[in-house]
Amino acid sequence: MSKGLIVQKFGGSSVANVERIQNVARRVADYKRKGYDLVVVVSALGDTTDELIELAHKINTEPSEREMDMLLSTGEQISVALLAMAIHKLGFEAISFTGAQVGIITDTAHTRARIIRINTEKIKEELKKGRIVIVAGFQGVTLNQDITTLGRGGSDLTAVALSKELCADECEIYTDVDGIYTTDPRIEPKARKIKEITFDEMLEMASLGAQVMQARSIEVAKKFNVAIHVRSSFSTNRGTMIIQEVKRMENVVVSAVTLNKNESKVTICDVPDKPGIAAKIFGQLAESGVNVDMIVQNVSHTRHTDISFTVSKSDLNKALKVTRAVGKAIGAGEVLQDEDIARVSIVGVGMKSHPGVAAKMFQVLAQNKINIEMISTSDISISCIIQKKFAENAVRALHDKFGLAK
Ligand code: ASP
Ligand code: MG
Repeated sequence: MSKGLIVQKFGGSSVANVERIQNVARRVADYKRKGYDLVVVVSALGDTTDELIELAHKINTEPSEREMDMLLSTGEQISVALLAMAIHKLGFEAISFTGAQVGIITDTAHTRARIIRINTEKIKEELKKGRIVIVAGFQGVTLNQDITTLGRGGSDLTAVALSKELCADECEIYTDVDGIYTTDPRIEPKARKIKEITFDEMLEMASLGAQVMQARSIEVAKKFNVAIHVRSSFSTNRGTMIIQEVKRMENVVVSAVTLNKNESKVTICDVPDKPGIAAKIFGQLAESGVNVDMIVQNVSHTRHTDISFTVSKSDLNKALKVTRAVGKAIGAGEVLQDEDIARVSIVGVGMKSHPGVAAKMFQVLAQNKINIEMISTSDISISCIIQKKFAENAVRALHDKFGLAK
């Protein structure tokens, strides 16, 4: 009798070299020995994905997205095969599969495909035979048999989606840190490990720059209520549980501070202030697949106004190209870019019921002589765009002033 099914995902740093792959194999085997069924999702070894992207760009600066997926999916294929071999060496039965082989069917949006469905029969068959099933993360296949990938960090999504489809008893995400922290401990050594955090907070943190998990995977986890245990592959400590609702003492207003240095700011100057202009600019950007983040438009006194927005660095060139073309067509002025920006954010469900949180954030930045260039808020977060050179300082100050330090 099986004790239950666990889906375990191991990130790139957990399988970065031979010793680490063997470490993962031992860990997986331990669970098997205890009587669990296991589906193991693995990312590409170390920085393989980044290296493959670099390699592609040496060949062609604008590689076809279909071919990118073909290329990047090989990273995870290496990992699953090696992990299977390492597990065999320990005397356990394991079998590896690509995303296509286990029927992870996606739409055709190459490099950011969405999962349409998963045909789980094959996995179930193998589990029935007592085998550990190892699945290549981050990839799927279209109905046309084209290989797709699920966006950077997509192995998390593979793990969450499989947990849901297989009704797993547990979904464990193994990484190189032992949980979710109140902020990046490399920036603020006084950061604390969070025991439990809600899907909403984690989603917000992931989209605001916390590197630990892919935002889309949290979206899916929330939608299907898949509880996630984020923990370290190098220790047996309990990590952080990501769940629907957390019981906390009332006075927790801010749960975490995040930093994102991966955005750039684009400003389109002297835009005619009349209906339909924003629709045109952002419509075109959307059509070319550029994800726009923060948007600020000033009030105009002259029938012309500036519009600024942020995009991820990887989309900057595309965004500039599109914005310049639209700008010209609508009779706007110059298009400016600023790559030296950072976004600092505070996140917490507690701020829904506490007034004055934004004011306090601005005060803290002001006390540190940090100028705020853009502001955006959601239900449970407040973000400021500031100059990059102040980023770490801002994080430490906010972490301290909102009482998160050890
Ligand atoms: N290897 C892919 C990436 O680096 C997917 C993942 O790690 O989850 O984005
Ligand atoms: Mg990775």
